[in-house]
Amino acid sequence: MTMSYLHITTPLLQHRRLSAMLGQSVWLKMENCQPSGSFKLRGIGLMCQRAAARGARHLICPSGGNAGFAAAVAGVALGIPTTILVPHTTADSVRQAIQAIGATLLVEGQVWDETNQAALRLCEQPGYVYIPPFDHPDIWDGNATLMDEVAGQLDFDVVLCSVGGGGLLSGVVQGLQRNGLAHIPVLAVETEGAASYHAGLAAGECVTLPAITSIATTLGARQVSAHALALAQQHDIRSVVVSDAQAVDACLQFANDMRSIVEPACGATLAVAYQNLPQIREFQRPLLVVCGGIAADLVKLSTWKTQFNLT
Ligand SMILES: *Cc1c(COP(=O)(O)O)cnc(C)c1O
Repeated sequence: MTMSYLHITTPLLQHRRLSAMLGQSVWLKMENCQPSGSFKLRGIGLMCQRAAARGARHLICPSGGNAGFAAAVAGVALGIPTTILVPHTTADSVRQAIQAIGATLLVEGQVWDETNQAALRLCEQPGYVYIPPFDHPDIWDGNATLMDEVAGQLDFDVVLCSVGGGGLLSGVVQGLQRNGLAHIPVLAVETEGAASYHAGLAAGECVTLPAITSIATTLGARQVSAHALALAQQHDIRSVVVSDAQAVDACLQFANDMRSIVEPACGATLAVAYQNLPQIREFQRPLLVVCGGIAADLVKLSTWKTQFNLT
């Protein structure tokens, strides 16, 4: 039996103004249009589907962010009781969004590590399946579908994507490789203060950041997945780090240009083009993964705009 995905095929759009500004053909894969507001429904959705096919009776996801929201969307669509555990620091708006979808919300722990421990304890019960935010082969496999969609449709010469724990990057690379595009380089973008991939590449091994100081908390995995780091040995992956101010500026310009609001986690990737950073200049047809994110709105964008003195 073939299984239909929970995620949708997203639009692939040319960014006219950026293309004119850079003298390139700049393309956008609009993952912000997913029902979960981010690409995460691809990977987490597939993992939940596979768990359901194996008889899962309860899905458990520790995440106060886009991963938790995607797991909630997936679990409810599959008709499986789904519990999202969030730390006490999680905003009310996010808690409400998860509950409004129809998932169970459990507030556990002061920091994510404690939340995660509580999730793992719950999963000791039979039939309970643990859904991690980024570190699982099913998640990379599902995230790779975004490259499957682009592969036959567009001629591009580089992919830009943001890196938190590395699940999106792993999916992008897997998707390139399984579509005969293993030669296409990837720019892996983070913000200063959340650059655990950059630190890991520099050290040649996984590094645990002492703290996350970027406002792009979605990129704030203190340690990236070992798999994402190892991929740099076999694929042309180049790390790019932008400032929070550049990421927010890109969100503001993108909101005006494309009439869409995305998180600074996504703005980081957009900033490489909006700032015309050296790393993008050698290419002619860049593809930007607009990863999206639900934790941004008009009020937050204008607060950050003031905070970073942007005009
Ligand atoms: C999860 C997420 C990321 C980072 O993805 P990883 O798989 O953790 O690297 C970036 N942007 C948005 C909007 C996300 O939801």
